[in-house]
Amino acid sequence: MSRDYDVIILGSGPAGFSCAMQSSKFDKKALVVESHEKHLGGTWINTGTVPSKALREAAKTIVEFNTQFNSEEEKKPYDLFHMEDLLQYKNKILERENRKVKDDFIKNEVDVARGFGRLVDEHTVEVETHIGTMETYTGDFILLATGSSPAHPTKFKVDHDKVLDYESILNITHIPRRLVIIGSGVHAMEYATTFAALGTRVSVLSSRKDDLSFLDHEIKEEFISALSDSVTIRNDIVIEGIEFNSLRTYTEVHFRDQKEKDRLQVIETEHVLYLGGRKPNLENIGLNNANVETDSNGFIITDKHYQTSNTRIYAAGDVIGFPRLASASFTQGRQAACNMFGIPSLDNPDQIPYGIYTIPEISNIGITEQEAEEQGIDVTVGRAYFESIAKADMTNHKDGLLKLVFSTETLKLLGVHIVGDQATNLIHLGQAVMASDDDIRYFIQHVMNYPTLSEAYRIAAFNGLNRVYKAGVKYQRILENEQDQT
Ligand SMILES: Cc1cc2nc3c(=O)[nH]c(=O)nc-3n(C[C@H](O)[C@H](O)[C@H](O)COP(=O)(O)OP(=O)(O)OC[C@H]3O[C@@H](n4cnc5c(N)ncnc54)[C@H](O)[C@@H]3O)c2cc1C
Repeated sequence: MSRDYDVIILGSGPAGFSCAMQSSKFDKKALVVESHEKHLGGTWINTGTVPSKALREAAKTIVEFNTQFNSEEEKKPYDLFHMEDLLQYKNKILERENRKVKDDFIKNEVDVARGFGRLVDEHTVEVETHIGTMETYTGDFILLATGSSPAHPTKFKVDHDKVLDYESILNITHIPRRLVIIGSGVHAMEYATTFAALGTRVSVLSSRKDDLSFLDHEIKEEFISALSDSVTIRNDIVIEGIEFNSLRTYTEVHFRDQKEKDRLQVIETEHVLYLGGRKPNLENIGLNNANVETDSNGFIITDKHYQTSNTRIYAAGDVIGFPRLASASFTQGRQAACNMFGIPSLDNPDQIPYGIYTIPEISNIGITEQEAEEQGIDVTVGRAYFESIAKADMTNHKDGLLKLVFSTETLKLLGVHIVGDQATNLIHLGQAVMASDDDIRYFIQHVMNYPTLSEAYRIAAFNGLNRVYKAGVKYQRILENEQDQT
């Protein structure tokens, strides 16, 4: 029986987009179903990755300008810049990125159906359009890539005026003087440092006992010490409610610190930004009609080929849970396409880098020094502080640390941890060395452009080797070892 499409994809975020692109390169006929009335690109382009990073880049440019050239020190960024300009900057980027997705679909002859897609069976999808009509399509395979949405808080309402969420923060009309962020983890820290860069006093109220606990301890310490005085982070907090105080024209956040539960505390703020958890978009998409199973947290279960419990149906991106990143979703969608059409693809990498777009940014790959200790691996570390790097001096980004974790015996690179400007870019050099199973002598033997922040790798490698080979014999020993091996 011939079907309408080789693959029908629900969702046009990074997972759906890359599956469509890869399928089209295999000469397969693909249909993307997108429920958003206006935009393609999902959370990636419209409410998550791209807009938050566009605002962050704008805020970072302002900090850089102010630090270098603003002599009116008493003036805060919000006195000098307008949110309207930042929003315009962000919106132009979104328009361009949206256009690129649309153009890529057209160029690659990927069809798009607008409306809410639902599984009827393992080969059939019905689409409820925005004008209420129903369309039905059949496909050999189906990819579920419907992404995730913010979960709703229980103790207060997000009114998108005083209390904002992932979406409404992107349209805030002015730079607030005070902002309380309710939430923990990466997004809370990213928005906290973005607004702090604009002069806002930010309080993060986190329910977790410890935030960013997955980071190497020294990197976290360096990050906390680089945070501006405008950011306060309070952990182990339970929110009791939010009220608008019309007399004082402030919004009050009522909360308790778990360490002193009896005391109800209040913070006055201009706005609250709620960045709670996210849930997969799987409601009413007909998983039961095709026996697609989910786990206890509601995410779709897949094997390492991104195949679900139904062999004709694949899933990728946020709907399958961790790591819920655009970066990973691109790879998963592409690999799902390779797997469904039986085309060999490269194996999944063992290690992926993580990027946190705070100011300064953080990135890491591989094991931390603490994990190595716990696992009984004999490692040595090498450090380079950004203040010793000429490029960091020139760009005024002297807060930062690059830390290499490597095997003391073989010098093989096992982990790279960076806090500082361009960390999310810098990490890829370490990633490449790790993927080639190389050791830290790579950073000494190869000439790299100067001045660059990559110099941190060379300094950290020397720092680590000095520790291994102790003073006196160190460099000669390294070279001798090198000659023995060739
Ligand atoms: C504030 C924020 C910042 C982030 N920053 C980063 C970052 O810096 N780096 C990074 O790697 N990741 C980042 N992420 C995570 C990243 O955005 C997501 O992991 C990624 O977008 C998930 O991709 P996806 O394809 O699974 O889903 P999405 O991008 O969410 O796309 C899913 C699409 O499916 C559509 N859809 C839903 N239901 C249906 C249906 N039934 N029928 C048809 N269409 C449907 C939706 O409208 C949406 O367009 C961030 C997320 C947030 C919220």
